[in-house]
Order: sequence, then structure tokens, then C-alpha cells
Amino acid sequence: MKAYNKIINLIDDFTGIFYPRLCVACNENLHRHEDYICLNCLYALPKTNFHLTEDNPVNKLFWGRIKINNATSFLHFDKGGKVQSLIHQLKYKGVKEIGYDLGNYFGSYLVESDNYSSVDIIVPVPLHIDKLKARGYNQSNWIAKGLSHSMKKPLDNTNLLRVKFTETQTKKTRIERWENVKSVFGIYKPSLFKNKHILLVDDVVTTGSTLEACSQKILEIENTKVSIATLAKA
Ligand SMILES: [Zn+2]
Repeated sequence: MKAYNKIINLIDDFTGIFYPRLCVACNENLHRHEDYICLNCLYALPKTNFHLTEDNPVNKLFWGRIKINNATSFLHFDKGGKVQSLIHQLKYKGVKEIGYDLGNYFGSYLVESDNYSSVDIIVPVPLHIDKLKARGYNQSNWIAKGLSHSMKKPLDNTNLLRVKFTETQTKKTRIERWENVKSVFGIYKPSLFKNKHILLVDDVVTTGSTLEACSQKILEIENTKVSIATLAKA
């Protein structure tokens, strides 16, 4: 078995000479055990550590709007920096695995907090069917997959659904945005979420209106709790 592994590693190194795999954040060669982002870049990412404090800016976003157990974002959204580039590639360049890598890393921090280790089910914010068709995947689902792996919690990406089309949000006021999203989400089988602590996952939180609308639907179910995890806060 050892000899076999040695041969596989040799082939790996050999093909690496001709087809180098590059880090999606810094373009340097990846080592054998690095998948898409090199360890140097992962360590250097600007982490918020918001999950360690209750009065963090993401939690505060929901105060007075809806009762969220805990909310956090993993990274500072550095305009023009690596985080923005990674999220751009994740959403618009087809590199869905970035979501998995970052989600997996994010989860390794969250499991160390009691607030998040009590989560029962990880649920990505569903993407509208038209966007899903155009993009081919839901980036939040890939983040949720990574979180599910490192947090060792089940993923459910079929119970929270989008039921109505939303117009583009960008030119709307907060109230208009809220009117626009509140009737958009539905739960297929409420009993699956009953008595559960749900971790809602999205890529970037801006106004929080989409996450609020999803949370409201979940919290209508008996004895549910909702926490929120996003990769970055805009
Ligand atoms: Zn790198």
C-alpha cells in the first residue's frame, strides 16, 4: 500500500510539472494536499471572529427585526482584495469549490463556539430557479456542504424553497425589498424542522432582508431556532 501511495504521489508531482494547479487567490502553485486555495492564503484571510461576540455587526443587523439566535460572517469583505475576488469567482466564474473550501474552513471555527455547535441542520438560502439554471449551481449550497463536512451536521437543501419570482433588489429601499422577498420562501415539510436549531447559510449579507424572510418562514414552525452564517458582510 505504501509503495502504491508513493507511485500515486510521484505521478501527482510529475503531472504537476506539466499541469500545475494554481491557488485561486494568489496564483501560486498548489501543494498536493491543497485543493483550490493554498494554506498561506487561507491563514491570511481577514477573519472577523464575529462568532465569538454577541454584539457583532451581523447580529445587530437583525436586532428589532427578527429573533435570531446568533449571526456571523466569516470574513471582512475587503473591496479589491482577496475575499472579493474569491466571492466573485464563486458566484460568477463557476468555481463552486471555493464555496466548499471556505465553508469547510469556516465550520472549523464555528464548531468551537457553543452557540453554533448546538446547530441541528444546515440549510442554504435557495437560489431562484432562473439563476440556478443560468449558473448551474447554488453557491450557498456549496458553502453549506463545506460547513456540513467540518461541523459534522446534516445538510438539507430541499425543504426551504423559493416559491415566487423576485425582481432585482438593487434599486429598492429596505421596505420595498422586504415587501419583495417576504412571500418568496416556503417550507415543503415543516415537520422536518420542528424542534430544530437551523443554521441558515448565504454567501454575502447586505441588508439581511433575504435571510430575514427565510428565518421568518422557519420560525413559524413549532420550537425552531435560527442562526445565520455567511462568508462575508458587505
Ligand atoms: Zn494562495
